[in-house]
Amino acid sequence: MKNVLYGKCVKCGKTYEATPDLTTCECGGILDITYDYDYIKTQLTKEKLAARQERTMWRYRELLPIEETTEPTPLRVGWSPLYEEPRLAEKLGLKRLWVKDDGQNPTASLKDRASAMAVAKAREAGAKVIACSSTGNAASSLAGNAAAAGLKTYIFVPSRAPKGKVAQLMTFGATVISVQGSYEDTFELSKQAIDKWGWYNRNAAINPYLSEGKKTVSLEIMEQLNWEVPDYIAISVGDGCTIAGLWKGLKDLYAIGFIDKLPRLISAQAEGCCPLNRAIATGEDWYPMEENTLADSIAVGVPRNADKALMAIRESNGLVVNVSDEEIMAAQKLLGMTCGVFGEPAGVTGTAGVKKLCEQGVIGKNDTVVSVVTGNGLKDVANAIKACGEPISIPSNMDLLLKAFDEKGIDVEA
Ligand SMILES: *Cc1c(COP(=O)(O)O)cnc(C)c1O
Ligand SMILES: [Zn+2]
Repeated sequence: MKNVLYGKCVKCGKTYEATPDLTTCECGGILDITYDYDYIKTQLTKEKLAARQERTMWRYRELLPIEETTEPTPLRVGWSPLYEEPRLAEKLGLKRLWVKDDGQNPTASLKDRASAMAVAKAREAGAKVIACSSTGNAASSLAGNAAAAGLKTYIFVPSRAPKGKVAQLMTFGATVISVQGSYEDTFELSKQAIDKWGWYNRNAAINPYLSEGKKTVSLEIMEQLNWEVPDYIAISVGDGCTIAGLWKGLKDLYAIGFIDKLPRLISAQAEGCCPLNRAIATGEDWYPMEENTLADSIAVGVPRNADKALMAIRESNGLVVNVSDEEIMAAQKLLGMTCGVFGEPAGVTGTAGVKKLCEQGVIGKNDTVVSVVTGNGLKDVANAIKACGEPISIPSNMDLLLKAFDEKGIDVEA
């Protein structure tokens, strides 16, 4: 990898050769893949990128930590749509608003970006088996991307994982261990099993390549915006790998001169589980919190990538916002009704945060915002029905239809 210098510990600064099975520093710190931007500048230009046919995350390969000979993974990951949403912008009182629908990835969440990277690196390492623990989406994305590449997976999920995600896992042929406990308990068991059997490790934060996969979301956002930098990018935060990856992509683009400034990040967490936002708000260290929210993908009481996430939020002079489950459900409905975008609860938490910050007057009419929807609503239909209600249910009878419209106050002529 001519474009990569080394992996560097974010805690102690120690550097490591970027081997495909790289994990954490001996001090326990998380590694950050460090690039040779001078070299990358000689390899990649905006024009070259614009001419490229490949509409997947691998179109940015000069900025990714893979060997030149490494093949793109089989599923189409990335290049999700970025919609401008003028009606929602007007409702919220924003100058301009875009929604990046990452629920349109092959297994329906942003996690596909990290899992495709894990599969590419596992292949480089010659591994045949990959394992991870996950609140659900890292799991289903790993299972899907690995299945497509002919690799075997062992997956640990907490027993609360929504059925849609478990159905994906079973369909993709993973060996699934549903752990009767919290995400923290799940992570611990997976760690012991991975140590015991030596599987390729796709655990969040442990494997430093994963957030390099996730950073492709901001590479895409900026290319789709024709390199015009918005004021804010909002995203939901659990372990913190996603927001750290998002920030990394932006800093990469800045380092190679593709953008001339950096946006501020908006870190959205659930009120019932917001250890990282609490640390930013109080200026204290983070400490564990209960996992008390319906947004299962971000119900992370012990964030695995706190260091990188907190650094990203602070470096970007970012904002933190915590939203209640009710606010999350309202955002789910609002995105559905005004944008036709169906997000899972954690998927829409960033948008719920934007709405709240608009209502509080923290951001507003002069601001441009990109809100990333990180996962698809079909993964968790029970909560979508809870948020948006049940349909009119009647026999096939016109009189009963009229009566139902009447009762509901639906005026068809209006
Ligand atoms: C994993 C996930 C997040 C948060 O990503 P972290 O890296 O855990 O912070 C947000 N939304 C969805 C849908 C996810 O699956
Ligand atoms: Zn270290």
